[in-house]
Amino acid sequence: MFSMTVWGDRGSMPTPGPDTVLFGGNTSCLEIRVDGRLIIVDAGSGIRGLGDKLLREDIKKGPIEADIFITHTHWDHIMGFPMFNPIYVPGTKLRIHGPISYEDDTLESIIGSQLSYRYWPVRQEELSAHIEYEQIKETSIDLGGGLRVQTKYLNHPVLCLGYRFEYDGKSLVTAYDHEPFRNVFPTDPADPSYDEEAAREGDAAAIEANEKVLAFCHGADLLVHDSQYTAREYNKNKVGFGHSSYEFAINSANKARVKRLLLFHHDPNRSDAELQELELFYEGKLRGRTELAAEMSREGRTYNL
Ligand SMILES: [Zn+2]
Ligand SMILES: [Zn+2]
Repeated sequence: MFSMTVWGDRGSMPTPGPDTVLFGGNTSCLEIRVDGRLIIVDAGSGIRGLGDKLLREDIKKGPIEADIFITHTHWDHIMGFPMFNPIYVPGTKLRIHGPISYEDDTLESIIGSQLSYRYWPVRQEELSAHIEYEQIKETSIDLGGGLRVQTKYLNHPVLCLGYRFEYDGKSLVTAYDHEPFRNVFPTDPADPSYDEEAAREGDAAAIEANEKVLAFCHGADLLVHDSQYTAREYNKNKVGFGHSSYEFAINSANKARVKRLLLFHHDPNRSDAELQELELFYEGKLRGRTELAAEMSREGRTYNL
């Protein structure tokens, strides 16, 4: 058994209310089940509901044990941790893996400092769970039992990892928060700091970096890809924010021969009606042209691999 359930797919900030019932208002959290094993990607506000389900159902079979992979430490990806209620239950064992951007900030201090009297009524030292932290970079980890995870640096304002989980010939890839790599040097000859060679090298470096992400996603059975903006919004004034357009996500999935694409990290200002309209629009564009199945991520939905 290899499945994934979406507990949160909203970007940047939780957005509860009548306009976000269908696609969900919680920030990112994915529950992955590999046989009896529990893997969680991100501790956004969606992890609260997952934790409560674990304490209702799974705890009957024994203490909660999980590996949590944090894509990056932006607040929308860690804010749910203080309300992940298994941390208050003796016997819970968590291994939290994730990247850090600055060496003097440990993963433990970034996530755990949310549990200090400044922000929260319980301190990290008072938690009942046994929690281990592991800072990771680009790597490949054998998680045992035939499950492997590979990580890849993405393009985001802080260090951010994509995850590729492989089990029994099937693969699930996350590629958020991410935007296309681009040339960091001036490319306009009229620009006073333009340098022809630097511009050419910058182009080549961006192309190579984008190809590496495609290779990382290649052949995925399920790809969860950043798609906060439309191409028009992205090009207008969102370049450099660290998020992709629907068009870029779909093109990348097509090029990488992905089977199923989940459009993820919905903009907090996007209503259910707008997301439905965009979903129909992109489905129409793909129909008859590609094997790729693309859809908007919906909170609460389970995908079997
Ligand atoms: Zn985010
Ligand atoms: Zn982010």
